[in-house]
This record gives sequence, structure tokens and C-alpha cells, in this order.
Amino acid sequence: MNIILLGAPGAGKGTQASKIANKYKLLHISTGDIFRANIKNGTEIGKLAKSYTDSGKLVPDEVTCEIVKDRLTWDDAQHGYMLDGFPRNIYQAQQLDKFAKVDVCLNIDVDESLLMDRICGRRVCACGESYHVSTLNGATTCAKCGGKLYQRPDDVPETVKTRLDTYKSQTAPLIDYYKAQGKLVSVKSGEGSPDLVFEQICKIFDKYDK
Ligand code: ADP
Ligand code: ZN
Repeated sequence: MNIILLGAPGAGKGTQASKIANKYKLLHISTGDIFRANIKNGTEIGKLAKSYTDSGKLVPDEVTCEIVKDRLTWDDAQHGYMLDGFPRNIYQAQQLDKFAKVDVCLNIDVDESLLMDRICGRRVCACGESYHVSTLNGATTCAKCGGKLYQRPDDVPETVKTRLDTYKSQTAPLIDYYKAQGKLVSVKSGEGSPDLVFEQICKIFDKYDK
């Protein structure tokens, strides 16, 4: 099963992605994580990506598509994968259609009014966990691994605004793109806990996983 995860920044894609990958034994491929790892390691791709990610703009399509295309040829991607953060515009989706077979696109739908606070209040750990300041009670370390929590450089209001605008103008049209292919499924991620959202997701994927 090859899945695409779609959703606005702050929709909880990352949280759901690790749960889904775990339960359905899918390789989790996040373009955002790939860019952050490259930035951290100071690679050429990282140097190029940084100016875009820091300002909330999309990294150029040629670069992003090439990375994903290559990643999907690795051995570990031959038994099902979940793409998180790709495709992010129609062009990327059209390219993906040329080099991969997508079974289903899961759209995580959230009220726009919740997003700004969710993202700006997010604190993350290098281990992949993320938290919201409102539930941390002043804690500055990760409950899972003890690592120091930090704010992603692009989780600040000005950049978040750009990311949300980019989502609306470029990524949201993918909902109709996958609907037209008969591949779209949707869950609503509102005030409910991540576990409740995951339950809805499981109901959908259990049908595909046979
Ligand atoms: P979020 O979904 O929370 O905005 P991501 O971690 O998915 O964050 O992405 C962070 C940044 O990485 C994006 O703002 C963008 O600059 C870059 N990026 C990630 N995926 C893509 C993509 N498919 N195409 C272009 N840029 C991307
Ligand atoms: Zn941690």
C-alpha cells in the first residue's frame, strides 16, 4: 500500500504519520525531515533548501521531485510507503504519477482557525516527538527521551503565515486532484485527541490493508 498524507501545516500529519507507519508497516518518507536533515548536515541540498524552508516557501520542484524519485528506488521502499509533505502542488503530483503508483491519499482536515496556535506553540525534540506549550507545564525536555525541546525555526508567526498561504494556494488543490482519481479519503482532526483521529484513520486503512 502506497499512501500520500495531505494536510495543512499543523494538521497533525507528523503525529499521525508515525502511528500509521508503525501499525501498517509502511516506510515514512517526509520531505520536510529530509530537508531538515540536509540542513543540519550542511549538504549542498541543505544549503539550497534553507532559504526556502526558513521563509516558508517551497523548495524548487526539480530538486524535491528528484529527491523523492530517488528515495523510492531504495530497497526499503519496495513494500509500501507513506509520503508526508509530498506532493505539495499539482506539478509535483503529476511528476509522482510518472514514477510511482499511489493507492490512496489521506487528507487530514482541520479548521483553519486552529492552525496558527498549534504551529507557533509547537516544541519539538530531535527524536521526532512534538508537544504543545499548553500541555508542557513549563517542561523544557522531552518526556520520551529527555532531549532538549526547541522551536522549529519556521514555526514563528511570519513564516507560518507564508506556509499557510502556500498551503492554500498550492497544496489544497491536490484534494480535488486525488478526488478526481477516486483516491481521496478524509478525516477531520479537530479538538479531539490524536488517538481519536488515529482511530478514524484505522477504520479507513483496515479496508485497504487486506
Ligand atoms: P509543514 O507541513 O509543517 O509546513 P514540513 O516539515 O512538511 O512542514 O516542511 C517544511 C518545509 O520544507 C516547507 O515549508 C518547505 O519549505 C519544505 N518542503 C517540504 N516538502 C516540500 C515539497 N514537497 N516541496 C517543496 N518544499 C517542501
Ligand atoms: Zn525526544
